[in-house]
Parts: sequence; C-alpha cells; structure tokens
Amino acid sequence: MKPALRLLRYAWAAPASAVGLLLALPLLARGARAAPVQGVLEIAGGPLAAWQRRLPAACRFAAITFGHVVIGLDHRTLAACREHEQVHVRQYERLGPLFFPLYLGSSLWQAARGRDPYLDNCFECEAYAHSDPRTVRH
Ligand SMILES: [Zn+2]
Repeated sequence: MKPALRLLRYAWAAPASAVGLLLALPLLARGARAAPVQGVLEIAGGPLAAWQRRLPAACRFAAITFGHVVIGLDHRTLAACREHEQVHVRQYERLGPLFFPLYLGSSLWQAARGRDPYLDNCFECEAYAHSDPRTVRH
C-alpha cells in the first residue's frame, strides 16, 4: 500500500482510535500491556477480565476494536481473535467515524426484525465470514 494511502486510512479512523485509547487508559494504568501488531495497537490484560465478570453476559467480549486499537482479555485471546478484529479494522478504515452509528444502526435494525443484534449485524457477518467461526464472541 502506498504510504500516503496508508496515512489517510489511519487519519480517517483516528477518531475511533482515540476512543479506543481513552477506554484503554484505565486498563493501562492498572497493568494492561500494549503491543503493536499488524499495524494495530493491541491492549490486553490488567483488570479487564475482572471488570467484565460484573457485566451481564450479553455485554461481555473477548476483544473489541476501535479504529487501530484492539482491546482484549489477554494477548493469547487477541491472537485467536486477530483475523476477526482485522476485518473490523478494515471496516473502520473504510468508514472512519461513521462506523459507530452504522454499527449501532445495523444492530438496531436486526433487533427490530427480531434477529440477533450482534450475530446478524452486517459488520459482524462480514468479520465472521473472513475469520474462524469457532473463535469466541468478539
Ligand atoms: Zn466482531
């Protein structure tokens, strides 16, 4: 990929990446570790697993992507989810800050139709179509 195009993709996704960094700050302050992998900053560990146990099961995740920031339970989980999360990274690069409302809109549309707002979300369908379906929810 040409450097100028790569820079544009990072810039277009930067608002979402900033959200991911803000959400990761409390994790990083409590022991989570960050590592650059395949053009993405992967952040895992710290208290995330303990915090997630307090959430309803439907709200728990193994990994979640915000632009070029991926937050996961641990680095082994991130490795298992990487293919799926990289699809989301490409979605952010295409849609930039529009990803958030479009993702939410897809979930709401599926819920209104009586379908699963997560598994039937068009962005998740694309990610699962390009990754191993045996991996855990992310
Ligand atoms: Zn996903």
